[in-house]
Amino acid sequence: MPDFRQPLEIREYPLPEKIEPGAALVKVEMAGICGTDVHLWKGQLATPLPIIMGHETVGVIERLGEGLETDWTGKRLREGDRVTWSAGMLCGHCHHCAVIRQPTRCVNRSAYGISFNSDDPPHFSGGYAEYIYLRPGTAVFKLSDVSAEAVTGAGCALVTAIHGLERMRIDWGDSVVIQGSGPVGLAALAVAKSSGALTTIVIGGPSPRLESAQAFGADYTINIEEFADSAARLAQVKHLTKGFGADAVIECVGSPSVVPEGFEMCRDGGKYLVLGHYGDAGAVPINPHVITRKQLMVYGSWASEPRHMAAAIEFLRKQDGRFPFERLLTHSFPLDRANEALQITAQWVSGKSVIVP
Ligand SMILES: [Zn+2]
Ligand SMILES: [Zn+2]
Repeated sequence: MPDFRQPLEIREYPLPEKIEPGAALVKVEMAGICGTDVHLWKGQLATPLPIIMGHETVGVIERLGEGLETDWTGKRLREGDRVTWSAGMLCGHCHHCAVIRQPTRCVNRSAYGISFNSDDPPHFSGGYAEYIYLRPGTAVFKLSDVSAEAVTGAGCALVTAIHGLERMRIDWGDSVVIQGSGPVGLAALAVAKSSGALTTIVIGGPSPRLESAQAFGADYTINIEEFADSAARLAQVKHLTKGFGADAVIECVGSPSVVPEGFEMCRDGGKYLVLGHYGDAGAVPINPHVITRKQLMVYGSWASEPRHMAAAIEFLRKQDGRFPFERLLTHSFPLDRANEALQITAQWVSGKSVIVP
């Protein structure tokens, strides 16, 4: 990306001659396009220019640096192994990492596909490329029997949902409303269901996205085209939750107006998780009286740690087709059509788009 809101360009950079100890050069097999990339492209997140976007990537190790002998979980690593990695790099010793233990808010955090100027060596720091250079300290995960389609289909949405639902725990038997049927909504649905949610309601659209929600086991879906106003959606949620509202509501839309609507969908003493606002989409009036009166617990969750990625890969390995993440991939583009891939994602109607360079 040469500049915000400008077409992406193909640029050539020299491959590194030397791989530092602890680093790896990886040939990209598949790179997911995330909604965050659209926000980045619009300039809604702090990022240098130019950058190579792409923070959910699968590739094959081409060259291993000295000392990088195992993946983050201790599995032996060799050249030729298929891997993925945590996009975010945490320092481990700042106030947020070491003292208050909020490492996703590491003050020295950097992320592939977001933080590195591609004009600076080692250049290759994002997934929309033929190669990526994994710097020392990257949490690398060997994939073996987990497919690239499942990993990119789940994308950063799954680790985001795992982290978010670790903070706002789902209790067994909970009724859960998920606002949004995009990748984050579907991942939140998968994690909520496997955490014991027994009634799940997904609000979103258009229809193909709600069909995906049904394929993931949503008990009910509410189409925002059919239930076009807030009062109608709220009435439907109340109707499906014995008139009381849901035990938990998860925001996976990224549009500020859904938050006050979601507060109303919580039962008294319920909980609300704001998961979808990775980009700053602006402010919305909120009546704090609702939080007091309903005794709501409101949670936030930012990005993820390597342990969430480890859990996500294990979850994909063991969930045995219950949540068909690989089927969320609807569009695949070669590198020279990355602009189309980004534009299709920006319309918020497709399943997941990927680049296969
Ligand atoms: Zn993302
Ligand atoms: Zn830190």
